[in-house]
Amino acid sequence: MNVKEEYQRVYARIDLDAVRSNMEHMKENLSPKTKILGVIKTDGYGHGAIPIAKELEPLEYVYGFATATAEEAFILRRNGVKKPILILGYTFPYSYERLVREEIRICVFREDTLAQLSKTVSDLAEKGVLKKAKVHIKVDTGMSRIGVSADLKGLAFVEKAFETKGLEVEGIFTHFARADEVDKKAAENQLKKFEGFLASIKDKTGREIPVKHCSNSAGIVELPRANMDVVRAGITLYGLWPSNQVRKDIVSLTPVLSLYSHIVYIKEIQGGTPVSYGGTFTAKHKMRIATIPVGYGDGYARGLSNKGWVLVHGKKAPVIGRVCMDQFMIDVTKIPEAVEGDKVTLIGQEGEERITMEELGELSGRFNYEFACGLGKRVPRVYTKGGQILCTKDDTADF
Ligand SMILES: *Cc1c(COP(=O)(O)O)cnc(C)c1O
Repeated sequence: MNVKEEYQRVYARIDLDAVRSNMEHMKENLSPKTKILGVIKTDGYGHGAIPIAKELEPLEYVYGFATATAEEAFILRRNGVKKPILILGYTFPYSYERLVREEIRICVFREDTLAQLSKTVSDLAEKGVLKKAKVHIKVDTGMSRIGVSADLKGLAFVEKAFETKGLEVEGIFTHFARADEVDKKAAENQLKKFEGFLASIKDKTGREIPVKHCSNSAGIVELPRANMDVVRAGITLYGLWPSNQVRKDIVSLTPVLSLYSHIVYIKEIQGGTPVSYGGTFTAKHKMRIATIPVGYGDGYARGLSNKGWVLVHGKKAPVIGRVCMDQFMIDVTKIPEAVEGDKVTLIGQEGEERITMEELGELSGRFNYEFACGLGKRVPRVYTKGGQILCTKDDTADF
C-alpha cells in the first residue's frame, strides 16, 4: 500500500475490514433480535464518522448511529446516511427544526424540551412539513448525568411525553456506569432498575416503548441479559477495549487504527548530551537518535515523553526526552539499519511487535478513548478495504 507523499509526515490508516469484523463478532454474541447502534460521536472516536457509517449502514443488523451533538448528526445526514440517528446528549432548541425535518432522534429528559419540540412540530406543520419529533427518553439509573429518575417522577415525565402532541416516543434508554468492571453488581443493579421502570410504564400506561436499549460496549461483551432491542457499540467498534477488566476471550476484536510516520533525521550524540526541552533526558553514552516529525499537536500525547516507544524495522525504539508540539526523538542505537526516510509505526503492528492505543493511553496518563479522540485534524486518515485505499479524509487539503 503506497500513500501519497504528502502523508509521509504522519497518517492514520483506518481498516474498514476490521470495523466490519468487529461488528460481526459483536453481533454473533447478541441475541438474534438485538440490533446494533454504531456510536460514532467525536467523529467516530477520532477514526472518522462518515466512512465508518457508510461501511456499516448496509448491514441489516445495524439499527443506526449515535452521535453526541446535533452538528455531528447533520454531517451524517448531509453525507447521505439514511438510517436512524440518535443524539445521546442534550440538544439545544436552536437545532430542533432541522432535527425534526431530518428525522434525527432527540434524547429527552427535560420538561421544557417536550413543549419546545411540540411547538417546533406545529410550526413545521404550518409550513406544510408534516413530521413528528421522534424521541428517545433518557433514564438515569446510576450515572447521575442526564436522564429522568427511574421512579414516580420519571414515570410522570414518560406519561407527559406520551401525551405531548407532535411527539413520537420511539425509544427509551439508560447507560451503564460500571459495566466494564470485573464485578458486575453495579451494572446488574442499573439493569434491574431500568427493567423495573419499563414494567411500571407498562403497568401505568398500558404502552410499551418500541426501542429499548441500555448496553454499551462492555455490556455487549459481558452482559447478554442486557441485550434488549438495541445495543450501543462504541469503543469495541474500533477494536479497542472498554477497560482491561473486560474479558477478551468472548468477542474477538481487531484494532482499526494504525498510525505511521517516517524518520526525518538521524544523528549521533555524545554521552552527557541533553535531548529536547528541559533536558529531561541526557545521553549516558554515545547514542544514535532519530527525529520523528509528529508531536502533541497531532495528538501524540506529551505524557509519552520518556515513556512511549515506536517500531522501526519491527523493533522497539523508545521515546527519549519531551515530546514537542510537532516532533519527538527516539533512540535507534540498537537499530543500526535505521536510516532517514524509514517508516515508523506509532500505533499498530510490525512483525511480532504491536503498539496498542490502550498502551499509549495508559503510558500517557490518558486512556484509549481519550487517545483516539485526541488524534488531531493534522493527521490525515487513509481508509482501506481489502488492502486497497478506498478514500482519505484530509482536513489540510484545502490549500
Ligand atoms: C459513548 C456512549 C456509548 C458508547 O460507549 P462505549 O463504551 O464506547 O461502547 C453508549 N451510550 C452512551 C449514552 C454513550 O454516551
